[in-house]
Amino acid sequence: MWVREGECNQCGKCCETVNLTVARDVALRQHGNVQELERYLSFRGIRLAGEDIENNFLFYSLDIPCSQLAPDKRCLLHNRPEKPFICLRYPTARDDIEDCSYTFKQYGTTIPGP
Ligand code: SF4
Ligand code: SF4
Repeated sequence: MWVREGECNQCGKCCETVNLTVARDVALRQHGNVQELERYLSFRGIRLAGEDIENNFLFYSLDIPCSQLAPDKRCLLHNRPEKPFICLRYPTARDDIEDCSYTFKQYGTTIPGP
């Protein structure tokens, strides 16, 4: 089990992009193949950020900053009921944001014997 450790350093990086998860099989059926899909998305400024073939996911990323992110990187909705649920919980798993100060440690792993 992965457990989150650390605290938010308020770098604001997670508020600068929108990340979307789509059904991989549906997207590839619509576009024919990954290259076609990437080309189509690139014309709209959308990156294909990764995939999880086993769980049938594709991950899109868009450089659209949140309107509630202040110039000093504070969240204008901090401690307010309007703050989105996903922002209260983020990150729930390891992400690829280098500046994020959270780490994840794995506990309860059984190491196979000889
Ligand atoms: S609501 Fe606040 S925490 Fe959520 S993305 Fe916007 S600035 Fe970031
Ligand atoms: S990327 Fe991590 S450290 Fe930076 S604001 Fe988001 S949760 Fe906090």
